[in-house]
Amino acid sequence: MELDRPTRPLLTYGTYPVLAFVTAAALWSAVRWNLDRDAVIGALTAVTIVIVFSVERVNPLQDRWSMTKASLLGRDLPFIGLAVVVEQLATAGVSVVAASTMPRDGFGPLARIPILAQAAFALVALDLLWYGYHRAAHTVSRLWRVHGLHHAPSQLYVLMHQVFHPFDLLVSRFVISLIVFKTTGISPDAAFIAIAVLGLQQTVSHVNSDLRVGKLNYVLIGTETHRYHHAAQERGNYSSVVAIWDIVFGTFLYEPRRVPDAFGLEDPASFPDPRRFHAALAWPLRRAAV
Ligand SMILES: [Zn+2]
Ligand SMILES: [Zn+2]
Repeated sequence: MELDRPTRPLLTYGTYPVLAFVTAAALWSAVRWNLDRDAVIGALTAVTIVIVFSVERVNPLQDRWSMTKASLLGRDLPFIGLAVVVEQLATAGVSVVAASTMPRDGFGPLARIPILAQAAFALVALDLLWYGYHRAAHTVSRLWRVHGLHHAPSQLYVLMHQVFHPFDLLVSRFVISLIVFKTTGISPDAAFIAIAVLGLQQTVSHVNSDLRVGKLNYVLIGTETHRYHHAAQERGNYSSVVAIWDIVFGTFLYEPRRVPDAFGLEDPASFPDPRRFHAALAWPLRRAAV
């Protein structure tokens, strides 16, 4: 499907700059006035979701990809609850380990470069590890039983973004974060900025609205590029924040204005219906993968 000129250009071109500005203002305020970092991340996440949720309700890209009462109540809600708990535990775990084992201002050569450069380095490092795990999760059958859950919905909207197996969340939010934050020596403020940008990109990546950012698609994975990753017939865009690893490893997909025709699994019958919450969670533990 090819996109025409946007019907609501203000929303198409203005939403991401507004989100980026709100994020930058919140991060600057938190560092400047030493606000509680967890509270700022929580408030920022809530504001981001409210903005993009409103935009996709006012200007959906495709009605057939929109959230319905049945999809929210019958499928998404338990995953959203589980994701909130797992992410809180993972973040708290990383904070506890970091606080007990790392100097407050970071360590090593990276801790001496500007804080934004530290955060950018952390994002590139986080995404390299996620890229490796994510690509394996699409090819190793046992891991696909975990990760395929995120690909089971045939719609793409902001709240379905939490349809994830908790194992995936533990890998991304705990294991990978801990490895990067403990080994690079970046400061806690740089880690805080990296986590906020990660959250922003992951949220905008699932919005069912015609949001466009032009050449920025070659720098950050977002709404236009993550869509290809959810298309049943395409293989690419395994990164979640920066585009560099998909570009380097030849898996980057982006054709301005082209939108996939359908989302979901190539063979939906091969996976438990994600509305069966317990069956979907237990799927990786069931009989040996073929
Ligand atoms: Zn995937
Ligand atoms: Zn996704």
